[in-house]
Amino acid sequence: MNQGTTETHWMPRFVRMPWGRSWILLLGPFWLSCDSTTVPLPEARIDFDFPGASLAYAQAMGGDTYRIGLRDDTNATTKLWFSFRVQEAEGRPVTFRLEDVGTATSHWSYRQPVVSTDDGQSWTRITDTGFDSTTFIFSYTVRSNDDWVALSPAYSFARYLALVQELGTHAEVAAITEVGRTLGDEPLHHLEIRSQPQGTLPAIWAVARQHPGEPGGSYMIEGFLRWVVSADPDAVTLRERAEIHAIPFLNPDGVLAGNQRVNLAGLDLNRQWANPTLSESPSIFWTQKTITDYRDEGGDTRILLDFHSAPTARVNFFYYNQEASSTSALYTEVRALIAEVQSLNGDFVPLDDNVARTVQGERVRGWGFTALQTHGLTVESSGNDVTYGPHSGEQMTPERLLALGEAVGRGILRELFPG
Ligand SMILES: [Zn+2]
Repeated sequence: MNQGTTETHWMPRFVRMPWGRSWILLLGPFWLSCDSTTVPLPEARIDFDFPGASLAYAQAMGGDTYRIGLRDDTNATTKLWFSFRVQEAEGRPVTFRLEDVGTATSHWSYRQPVVSTDDGQSWTRITDTGFDSTTFIFSYTVRSNDDWVALSPAYSFARYLALVQELGTHAEVAAITEVGRTLGDEPLHHLEIRSQPQGTLPAIWAVARQHPGEPGGSYMIEGFLRWVVSADPDAVTLRERAEIHAIPFLNPDGVLAGNQRVNLAGLDLNRQWANPTLSESPSIFWTQKTITDYRDEGGDTRILLDFHSAPTARVNFFYYNQEASSTSALYTEVRALIAEVQSLNGDFVPLDDNVARTVQGERVRGWGFTALQTHGLTVESSGNDVTYGPHSGEQMTPERLLALGEAVGRGILRELFPG
């Protein structure tokens, strides 16, 4: 740039920049005659300082390419979830290089991150992706001046709190109580949907979101609860035959911290059910106490559901308890339930592609089987796409996740409460 021959303007100027619709206010010297390609692009602002955000670092490499890295979970070494905002860059093509993505690498070859321009109400896929054995690369054209980019459609604690508030306005919801608080002093809500005094009818219990980086579990339990309280004739019938209890958000601290797997003590909550403690896993302590108090007061639980999302899977599926005798009544019944749910929604895998595991008491599934002597069923949504069924090859969406939760409710009515 030859400043000697340029005309310098000191007044603020609005200049239409070459990358799109944004008008940038330039202050200070501006050399009108210089080659426009030498005007440096301001870096996009990468924000990972908000509830649920997660990145270790973001560094501009020039040319609208950014190095980013995964952050270790609180007091742990697990990591996978990422969530950040791209600000002041509408219309610009950006590339992110997610470095050192760890050893479980296969899912990066079929993973598609998502972006929301409406604060998480809707999400669309980023389809221009690549993987080179240590770095996951994705590119897209920034859609607003505040894009929210995440590993998969985020489900924030704020969305959950809004859901609880909304459900509280439904006449079908008999009570919402706080059964305890987490290490981070967040509330654990117990929602009761029942038409009779507590304990009159047999119960369905449901929990979710033990693992923060599995937002699919929250979408599914939302779909389940929205259907349960709805005017759908089958939901009305279910409410005449059962009472439904839910403690839907067991790890708000981990979600707010942007963790993948653990709570603030660095513990995987779905390994604490054999011995939960007030000091390190209060959400499991209080949830378990709420359910055992119900049992000890004579409540009859028919099934305990636990909603998750398998981060690297390409299937929507169930884990169920493999008993010593595969001809036992519970084993036969849970397989019939899984087959029924799959027949209602082919986004779940066929029966024999689900996973039977020996009873494991440190997980809610095994704990329910042992302590309640009933079905403990883990519902797992794909953290990616699926490879079968009506949506083969398509990444999971909030709409499909909500529909999975509804199918679980309908299947339970047909198999466990047929009237
Ligand atoms: Zn999980």
